Amino acid sequence: MIYADNAATTRISDGALKEMLPFLQAQYGNPSSQYSLGVQARHGIAQARRQIAAAIGAESSEIIFTSGGSEANNWVLQSVIHQNTPVHIITSTIEHSAVLNTCRMLEAHGAELTYLPVDANGRVNPADLKAALRPHTKLVSIMLANNELGTIQPIEEIGRFLKGTGILFHSDAVQAVGHIPVCVLDLGVDFLSISAHKFYGAKGTGALYKRNGVPLSPLIYGGEQEQALRAGTENTAGIVSAGCAITESVEIMDREAERLRAMVQETIDSIRSVIPTVRVNGGDSVRLPGTVNLGFDGVSGESLMHLLDLKGICVSTSSACTAGNGAPSHVLLALGQTESQAKSAIRISYGRYNTSEDVQPLVKAVCSAYRKIKDNQG
Ligand SMILES: *Cc1c(COP(=O)(O)O)cnc(C)c1O
Repeated sequence: MIYADNAATTRISDGALKEMLPFLQAQYGNPSSQYSLGVQARHGIAQARRQIAAAIGAESSEIIFTSGGSEANNWVLQSVIHQNTPVHIITSTIEHSAVLNTCRMLEAHGAELTYLPVDANGRVNPADLKAALRPHTKLVSIMLANNELGTIQPIEEIGRFLKGTGILFHSDAVQAVGHIPVCVLDLGVDFLSISAHKFYGAKGTGALYKRNGVPLSPLIYGGEQEQALRAGTENTAGIVSAGCAITESVEIMDREAERLRAMVQETIDSIRSVIPTVRVNGGDSVRLPGTVNLGFDGVSGESLMHLLDLKGICVSTSSACTAGNGAPSHVLLALGQTESQAKSAIRISYGRYNTSEDVQPLVKAVCSAYRKIKDNQG
């Protein structure tokens, strides 16, 4: 099997699994308990908090553990309307569904939303953001790296512009953290969403960076956990896996990035030599090292994906959250593509457990699946 869908999720690393297991077994104590079994669990969480903080240039006190990226995104956006003044939020048309669907819900509840367009390479123009500001703009939420394209947004530039305006700035950095350098101070964000299963930690664990002093409404009322902002006994094992996984990812980030970039380039070049019309969606943007989105005009990405699956190769048509519903990707439509172009795409995302040996078999399978579909169309 060749798993080339690491943007959807990753296999947990051996190290992260090994570190989390004791917290499900021998060290099962409640982190809030005062005896030593509880203290051990508390220390596990504290260490993971330091590890996540260190990886993004934050303080430990600025890390709040969540159930994942979707929760972190929901939380920040929903928190803003707890103020009863008029609220205007600016986001982009290519955000993850965990941002976009939350925004739609907020709109239904009276919030004003602006969805910034992107250019053909999936980038927001900071000038559009400036033009969209209103007196009651409370929050800007723009993702760092897009999950379908791997393209990276000019977050630093936006952060510099928003600094001192009093407008809160959130970035969904789920695809970026653990894969490219991320420093919250450089980015100028107030909030940043993180998910462990995108960097070889366990599923169901994530974190929200909340800059010290920035307001955030509690998500879950109850005990004092997570600064009394998110009550409930912590997912100790998952949290420990996240800390270990981020440390491992940061340690090997540079050489992994180089290795994955070479694999992606070989994939593009090899496919292009057989199918010259292949399109790299968002191809002129700075992109994540391991992700590439390819358009095969006249051929259904979904059919390609299924034929590859028959050969034991996992790629995706769009984001895992929207794949299978038959609708064209909202991201590709936002790039200005036609519905048929948008339905012709597959995303290949390599990760730590891929080797360069995976590239040619994958390329061969893509090209033969393409040929098969074309032949069937006559
Ligand atoms: C995967 C993903 C999410 C959702 O994270 P979960 O931890 O699965 O909830 C949010 N945003 C982006 C960009 C993602 O890639």
